[in-house]
Amino acid sequence: MPENRFRHRITCGWLRDCASEPTPTSPWPSLLWDEQMMKDQVRMLDAQKETGVEVNSVWGLFVGREWPSDLANTIDAGRAEQVRWFTDEAHKRGLKVVLGMGIYSWGFDRIIREHPEVTAPDNANAKEHVMCPFQPAAWEWQRHVLDYVMDPKWGLDGLSMQSADQGRCKCPSCAKRSNAEHHADILMRSAEYVRKNRPNWIIGTACWGLRVDEPEEMAHIIRMSGSFDYLLEVSELSARKGVRAELVKKLQCPFGSVGGAFVEPPQHYHRLRWFVPLGHGAAEAIAAVYRDGGRANEIYYRPLYNPVEEVSWRAGAYVLSEPVLTPREAVRRAVGAVYGSTGQDLDVLTDWMIRGEKAYLSRSTFKIGDGPLSLEFLVWDKNPSVGSPPIYLRDRMTPEQRKDYGVELRQLRGELAAMKVPNETAKDLTLKSIDGALADLMALL
Ligand SMILES: [Zn+2]
Repeated sequence: MPENRFRHRITCGWLRDCASEPTPTSPWPSLLWDEQMMKDQVRMLDAQKETGVEVNSVWGLFVGREWPSDLANTIDAGRAEQVRWFTDEAHKRGLKVVLGMGIYSWGFDRIIREHPEVTAPDNANAKEHVMCPFQPAAWEWQRHVLDYVMDPKWGLDGLSMQSADQGRCKCPSCAKRSNAEHHADILMRSAEYVRKNRPNWIIGTACWGLRVDEPEEMAHIIRMSGSFDYLLEVSELSARKGVRAELVKKLQCPFGSVGGAFVEPPQHYHRLRWFVPLGHGAAEAIAAVYRDGGRANEIYYRPLYNPVEEVSWRAGAYVLSEPVLTPREAVRRAVGAVYGSTGQDLDVLTDWMIRGEKAYLSRSTFKIGDGPLSLEFLVWDKNPSVGSPPIYLRDRMTPEQRKDYGVELRQLRGELAAMKVPNETAKDLTLKSIDGALADLMALL
């Protein structure tokens, strides 16, 4: 393996984050795994193989929010076959599958309801979503779930563990420990248990809900890094504070980000409802991680059916394998792969795509390094036929900026419509995605 690339090149998401069809009537996260979804997964795995993104870190193969107490019957025989189908398809392409899972919190709601002894008796606020590490039953249940996913029949290659995005237990015993100390303890215990049983597995952690940039917590972050193969920061606060390179040197495992900038795949929206290129920003952010010494990075799944999302995903993917690429060159390669343009036409379309990105970023409160950009509310159960309001336009721009943005989008649309693009389907889908964004803008006027 060449030295000059990220050691851990990962794409990550919930099962349907790469889906070409929305599930507007399902509660988030939807785990619908139909034939179209399987085709979408194959498309993602092929793109991974082609670009060298070795690891697929997937959430929701088994459950969304709730592991059942009857773990042996978590999924039926049909879904068990699909899990094995997915890991087999990845392995055929030389890729690895890492399962994303919550530790002591996410995924344990039902076990908490059915076995309240996993929570602290005096911690009413956190009872719904978090187990207490001081209750012996909590570790028993955590261990049962780990045993379940470690079963070789699934063909998994590792785990990506998260403990912090639902908060933490704050009972008197837990409250004596700082945030990082608390999470380091439960994550390390789980990681070491898995390591003992599956010494060849990849065990990573993405620190959703856990800050890694605070000096007073550093000792715990460093301690924790000794149990993992990689550790990822979500919002790039360590880079903004100028301490990331220093942090990387102190950690015992490769460090990285979740991709710098990406659209959080909107479950309820038609895949051509938005036009938000973020490939240039993502490539810039990922290359900066590498320059700071980071050697592990995720890029989020995208619905590749939207050609602009594929450009953004690919721009990140190319930088993972070749971190010295300039962001423009990464976007250029991605545009060439998606639209088939070459030579001068490719340069024109590349510049057009980057202008499309700046058109949004120059007017929005969203900043590269923030991680996910939410287009809509993640959880939305009202009026499924129209979906949640487009908060990326409504809440991140002033009415004046929206008006101005609409003018630029129309300009960009006109230019693309006049361009000669070999992949006419991709061009047509892109025009439709601009129309989708314009329709949302008009509705907000
Ligand atoms: Zn507790």
